[in-house]
Amino acid sequence: MIPQRVAGSSTLAMLEKVRQMKAQGMDVVSFAAGESDFPTPREVIEEAHKEMLEGNTRYVSTQGVPVLRDALAKDYKNRLNVSWAAPQHFLVVAGAKQGIHLALSAICDAGDEVLIPAPYWVSYPGIVKALSAKPVTLQTRLEDRYFSNVETLEKAWTPRTRALIMASPGNPTGLMIEEKLLKEIISWCEKKKVVLIFDELYERLTFGKTKHVSALSLVTEAQSEWVLSVNAFSKTFGMTGWRLGWVASHPKNIEYLTDLQSQVLTCMPGFAQVAAARAMDKVDSILGPVVKAFSNRKKIIMEGLSGIEGVKTLEPEGAFYILVDVSGVIARKNLKDDKDFVQKLLEQQQVVTVAGSAFGAPNSFRISFAMSEEEIKKGLERIKTFCVS
Ligand code: PMP
Ligand code: GLU
Repeated sequence: MIPQRVAGSSTLAMLEKVRQMKAQGMDVVSFAAGESDFPTPREVIEEAHKEMLEGNTRYVSTQGVPVLRDALAKDYKNRLNVSWAAPQHFLVVAGAKQGIHLALSAICDAGDEVLIPAPYWVSYPGIVKALSAKPVTLQTRLEDRYFSNVETLEKAWTPRTRALIMASPGNPTGLMIEEKLLKEIISWCEKKKVVLIFDELYERLTFGKTKHVSALSLVTEAQSEWVLSVNAFSKTFGMTGWRLGWVASHPKNIEYLTDLQSQVLTCMPGFAQVAAARAMDKVDSILGPVVKAFSNRKKIIMEGLSGIEGVKTLEPEGAFYILVDVSGVIARKNLKDDKDFVQKLLEQQQVVTVAGSAFGAPNSFRISFAMSEEEIKKGLERIKTFCVS
């Protein structure tokens, strides 16, 4: 039998469960969705359709079609303040997940270590394990807004440490790293020759006062040897099913990742890349209502949760997730742990969430608010009933 190094993704398992429950006609409220409920904008679909009809259905450049890499470079330069950004700094990949896998497969040999501050996005440790490398998870505290500092990284460092991976805004917390801390972490990575994989998937979906800072905006082109930015169209443009993302870094890193990609994926579909590039021109009109809706939903969630005893949380600044610490409820209701909490919430109230331990955050659960305000209110009532009963 082939080796079985990893378990399947818990978030995707929950999504599958929701599909099955809905198919059985159950009145389920799902807070499990890891994708925006806004559809891919019609213009983007029409552009892709037009491109296909015009014959853009063949292999294209492995690195990504020039029109998309030009658009990405312009965006990093003008909006994300990466003054040196140019098309050679980008590789188009099959979604952020494949970008992370590709990057780690280039960086790690078997037995190498990857630092992962917890709570982390569910698939980071799984990807590392799939490569026979070793995930080293670092506990953080709610009081530190769930971010690791340089002292913690230094303590965890060994001669086998090759990379550090983190997201801002984070999944499952929705929290954003402060510029000062990010700068300190980047300097530490450079000193220790550890690659920072900075997952910026939700960077356009922010609603707090904090402004997103791209890790690449804090380094020169030469220093970008140690920084990889990973991003995708998935969440921002409601394009999860298109599997279209990119990695940005030093040209030497991108050249090697492109070689590697030419052996494992060939290229992403040209019609999808052209359509996505055109979407970038219309981003403000597409995203304005989406960000506003998520911001309103976040307010509803915060209000709903604040009235429940035994529940602690930090207000998300971006993405569409919130991590809810329910240690108080678990203790009061005599539950085994967060998995037990999530399972009983599902059985007793037909509310689907994801257990915090999937993200390295025991005693909590994750709510995704990528759903209508009515559904959110209905789900919150059920969560409240469960917690106080
Ligand atoms: N990073 C984070 C933080 C995520 O939440 C996700 C979820 N989809 C991914 C990466 C993977 O994104 P994609 O769908 O573009 O592969
Ligand atoms: N990233 C989403 C989530 O965290 C989608 C599912 C997945 O790719 O794991 O739920």
